[in-house]
Amino acid sequence: MSVLRLAIPSPPRRAFDYLPPVGMSEAQLHGLQPGSRVRVPFGRREVTGYLLGVKSGSNVPQTSLKAALAILDPTPLVNPRLLQLCYWAADYYHHPLGEVLSVIFPKRLREGKAHQPLGITQWQLTTHGLGLAPDALSRSPRQAQALAMLRKQGVVANAQLKDQRISQAVLRTLRNKGLIEEIMAPRQAQPASSGQGLSLNPEQAVVIHELLKAPAGFICHLLEGVTGSGKTEIYLQLIADCLHRGKQALVLIPEIGLTPQTLNRFEQRFCANIAVFHSGLGDAQRYRAWEAARDGSAHIIIGTRSAIFTPLRNPGLIIVDEEHDGSYKQQDGFRYNARDVAVKRAQLEACPVLLGSATPSLESIHNALAGRYRHHQLTQRAGSSRMPTIKALDVRRQALQAGLSAELLATVKDTLESGQQALLFLNRRGYAPTLQCHDCGWIAECEACDARLTVHRRLRRLRCHHCGASRGLPRQCLHCHSNNLLAAGLGTEQTEEFLREQFSQWPVFRVDSDSMQGKNAMRDLVAEINKGEPCILLGTQMLTKGHHFPGVNLVAVIDTDAMLFSADFRGEERMAQLLTQVAGRAGRADLPGSVILQTHYPDHPLLQAMLNSSYAQQAREQLSRRQVTGMPPVGQLVILRTDCPDAQCGELFLQGLRDQTAAGLPAGVTMIGPLPSPMQRRAGKFRSQLLLTTPNRRTAQAAASLLVAVAETLPARRGLKWSIDIDPQDVY
Ligand code: ADP
Ligand code: ZN
Ligand code: ZN
Repeated sequence: MSVLRLAIPSPPRRAFDYLPPVGMSEAQLHGLQPGSRVRVPFGRREVTGYLLGVKSGSNVPQTSLKAALAILDPTPLVNPRLLQLCYWAADYYHHPLGEVLSVIFPKRLREGKAHQPLGITQWQLTTHGLGLAPDALSRSPRQAQALAMLRKQGVVANAQLKDQRISQAVLRTLRNKGLIEEIMAPRQAQPASSGQGLSLNPEQAVVIHELLKAPAGFICHLLEGVTGSGKTEIYLQLIADCLHRGKQALVLIPEIGLTPQTLNRFEQRFCANIAVFHSGLGDAQRYRAWEAARDGSAHIIIGTRSAIFTPLRNPGLIIVDEEHDGSYKQQDGFRYNARDVAVKRAQLEACPVLLGSATPSLESIHNALAGRYRHHQLTQRAGSSRMPTIKALDVRRQALQAGLSAELLATVKDTLESGQQALLFLNRRGYAPTLQCHDCGWIAECEACDARLTVHRRLRRLRCHHCGASRGLPRQCLHCHSNNLLAAGLGTEQTEEFLREQFSQWPVFRVDSDSMQGKNAMRDLVAEINKGEPCILLGTQMLTKGHHFPGVNLVAVIDTDAMLFSADFRGEERMAQLLTQVAGRAGRADLPGSVILQTHYPDHPLLQAMLNSSYAQQAREQLSRRQVTGMPPVGQLVILRTDCPDAQCGELFLQGLRDQTAAGLPAGVTMIGPLPSPMQRRAGKFRSQLLLTTPNRRTAQAAASLLVAVAETLPARRGLKWSIDIDPQDVY
């Protein structure tokens, strides 16, 4: 008896056996390849599973096996290398394989719809149409015209009919009358070509030379180049070489905000078919992009995190831009890191991968220093611009208005008056992070989270930035009914209001996730700013991500102190990355820029490091501290998390897990917890965690396997959910 072994998108981490669909022959059965989609009954639903193999016999008695409903793909849509990647990812991240596999397919294929290749739509007459008298349609001239064209030319492309102003509606009518029929012609992949690149400066030339002369096959390159050093130019020239070799290039970028600018540069340089993946795509657009990447007609594929799982016909190069960026890590469900998956994918595809950043993660620097990655450095800005000067501004005992010192205000004014732009960074959106009663001390808190509500004055609402809860701004204290309510602390909305009053002759643009709603908001703003007129840009992290603002001459960080004290072991790394990236927005054109960091702690060692050493030096020092603490990338971390509506049962579950696994863990593994998560209650769920530190990847994997195996067998209270996070980003 032959059975189909399938991966099904569902929590159990195991395969499921099914009988072949009714009427399928042994020969057909043995012709099936892994990766084909199979429609099956599953519980009371019908789902799409993915074929892992055809096996003789099952551990399940034949009478309890159900039959599959249909084989959806006679030949799989994805190649064995992409399947291998999914097998690896399911294994490494301890995530159910069926869920991993479903990530690679667009929605309509996940839902079990038939695969439709992209093609050129053409039309021809049916026998009925051929037999029709030439004047039969004389009352509808467009229909008659279409029929005449087809009669004369035989097969006509849709586009050609459109040129003759014959609409799709006319063609549909004729088809519905049975007079014409649609045929699909395969598309011819057009060769791509690229425009002239910039002439490289000596540092860039060395990097390109090294990269191009590297032997074919898998190599991981780390490109560590200061902001504005011309990394993108390097990407473009490498892609040109890749296209020249007739291969596809896959480029990962961190966020959608980056897409318009990056895309423009690519479109200007290449005469090529570029498929773009980001969260703003509709299902149909996504499908077309996916299919173009798969059938090889897309030459360049650009996308955010999940694009790393795009099927590629003929990959020749993978680039991960801003490789340190936190958005490459998926924080729920299938918790993978797209940068790490990219390296694995390049290995399976036997092609080079390039990780680029001005502020590489300590993980990548560690790998480069250990010789696992080839390390390339760009220490100078490209072209004529120079690195900005950076200084701390001691604001102790100074009067602050909306967070801004008199000295900073004066500098902003000078900047604007000399026709330059100023960028002010404040990493907190809303008007104020706290609403407090001045009479009794009451503070507005979220009912579902252990968190304070943020005041949004323009909307007249209090909002929770953790669960999205929102309510009207109270006029009175909910505790003592006093009217004496204070909005305490600082957010971008408040500073914006103040800046507008203070600098009424100049525009002030606020850039945060509240103000940048809608898919063109960022693009329009970037275009406005790049006209170069003097203005103030005030924003959160969103402003720092890879944007190129040539007119920005002054960059100031309003609340540097907020970054100095972090409980997370990556706090100092993140601070150095963020400040370096913010500072890097200054002086990208011909004038040297300046950077001001407002602080109450001018002597803080992290701030001193920021002022006196490069990111590269700071990173190496931080890495030596990780050697001492054994934290990643030196050791490895695994976190098991629970969330549950009940306050106690998460910790009980994790304690049970700890008790049952402690004896079986490999040497060197330490368990910390169970402990409440840093924000214990979020969106009404109580969260707790068990943290494992391990000396290396092998022990981390062994420990994770054991934990998952035991967790799957432990009885859990209703409503309790557990998850495992390998290489977690946020620990405390
Ligand atoms: P990065 O990606 O490292 O931030 P970019 O590639 O965006 O840097 O380059 C920064 C600026 O320098 C861009 O305006 C780019 O056109 C310019 N540039 C890059 N390489 C060169 C070069 N070789 N000659 C002149 N200008 C260059
Ligand atoms: Zn009160
Ligand atoms: Zn909340």
